[in-house]
Amino acid sequence: MSILQVKDVTKRFGTFNALKGVTMEVNKGEVYGFIGPNGAGKSTTIRILLGILQASGGEATIFGKDVWKEAVEIHKHIAYVPGDVNLWPNLTGGEVIDLLLKLRGVNPSISRREELIERFKLDPSKKCRTYSKGNRQKVALVAAFSSDSDLYILDEPTSGLDPLMERVFQECVLEAKAQGKSVLLSSHILSEVERLCDRVAIIREGEIIEAGTLDELRHLTRTILTVKTKEPLTLNGVKGVHDVEEKDGELVFHVDTEELDRVMKLVSEKGIVKLESAPPTLEDLFMRHYEGAEG
Ligand code: ADP
Ligand code: MG
Repeated sequence: MSILQVKDVTKRFGTFNALKGVTMEVNKGEVYGFIGPNGAGKSTTIRILLGILQASGGEATIFGKDVWKEAVEIHKHIAYVPGDVNLWPNLTGGEVIDLLLKLRGVNPSISRREELIERFKLDPSKKCRTYSKGNRQKVALVAAFSSDSDLYILDEPTSGLDPLMERVFQECVLEAKAQGKSVLLSSHILSEVERLCDRVAIIREGEIIEAGTLDELRHLTRTILTVKTKEPLTLNGVKGVHDVEEKDGELVFHVDTEELDRVMKLVSEKGIVKLESAPPTLEDLFMRHYEGAEG
C-alpha cells in the first residue's frame, strides 16, 4: 500500500529549476532512502511534502491527501526531523520534547520518551542553548520516535551524531519499520542509510537518476579485488575491469559486479595464492554518478 506519492513534482525558485519532475512512491512498512549530494533537491522535495513550500507543478500526496491543501490532517500522522534542528534556547531539552509532541497534537508515550532519552544519552535537564548540534538532533529524534506516527520524514537527521548514536538512530528506524511504519530518510552519505533502506531513489540536480531496491541497483556497482596469482596475470583491457594497480606483487582492481564471474575465471586460471574482496557498496555507484569518474 502506498503511503506517499510524488508525481512529476517541479519547483522553481525564480528562474532556477530546483526540482525538474521528481517522481517517487513510499509504501507502508518501508524505509525509503532519498539520496543525493548537497544542493540536489532533497530538502526542497521534503519541504513540499510537509506543505511548507508549494510545488510549481506535479502532484504530491501523503496518505492519499494533497500535501499542500490537507497539511493539517497529514501532520497528525507524521513526524519530521530536519538536519539542522533549531530549538527554544531558554527551554530545557525535556521541555522541548514535550512541546514538540504537544504542538503536533500526538499522545506521547511517556515510557517510550524516557527510554529514548536514555538510549540517546541525552541530558533533558539542560537548556537548549547549551546543547551541541548533536544534542539538538537528539531532542528532535527523541520527540519524533516517541510519537506514534505512521510516517517518519527524516531529512539528514544524523548530522552531528557520533557513530554510537548513529547506531541508536538506526535501531529506532528499524523498530519503526518492524511496527509497520514508513520512513523517508534523506542523506548525502549512502553507506549511512544503505543497511536501513528497502529501496532508494538517487537525486541529482533536481532529477531522480536511479531508483529501486538495493539489489536492483547493485548491478551498477563494482567489487574491489586484491589478488595474488602463481602465474603473471594481466587484466588490462579485460571487459568490466577498471583501475588496475600493482602493489607488492599483488593486483588491486575494480570489477563491475555483473562481470565478476567471468573475471574470476580468468584470475583462477593463473592459480590464486591470495584473494580479498571488498563488498560492493552503493557509495561507489553514487560516486561515479556524481563525480562522473570514468574507470
Ligand atoms: P539538498 O537538501 O539536497 O541539499 P535543497 O533542496 O536544499 O538541496 O536545495 C536544492 C537547490 O535549490 C539548491 O541549489 C538550493 O540552493 C536551491 N534552493 C533551495 N531553497 C531555495 C530558496 N528558498 N530560494 C532559492 N533557491 C533555493
Ligand atoms: Mg537538505
